[in-house]
Amino acid sequence: MTNSLTSNLRPRTCRACGKKFDYPVKGNAATRHHCADCVAVPVETRKIMERLNNRITQLENQLRRLQQKPAGGP
Ligand SMILES: [Zn+2]
Repeated sequence: MTNSLTSNLRPRTCRACGKKFDYPVKGNAATRHHCADCVAVPVETRKIMERLNNRITQLENQLRRLQQKPAGGP
């Protein structure tokens, strides 16, 4: 799918939506912290998205921690 010019790319995670994206990509508006989709979103809205994304990340970590706990009673 992708061409061979990807050696310089590093996968990034968008701060606002959590999507994984490559940066920098020629002709792509994505920045270091935001994917091309979220770059098009107004800053105020993006702030809210970042806040929500942070909460989701925290919840995911919490869920993972709970899942790692050995099941079973005393
Ligand atoms: Zn995004």
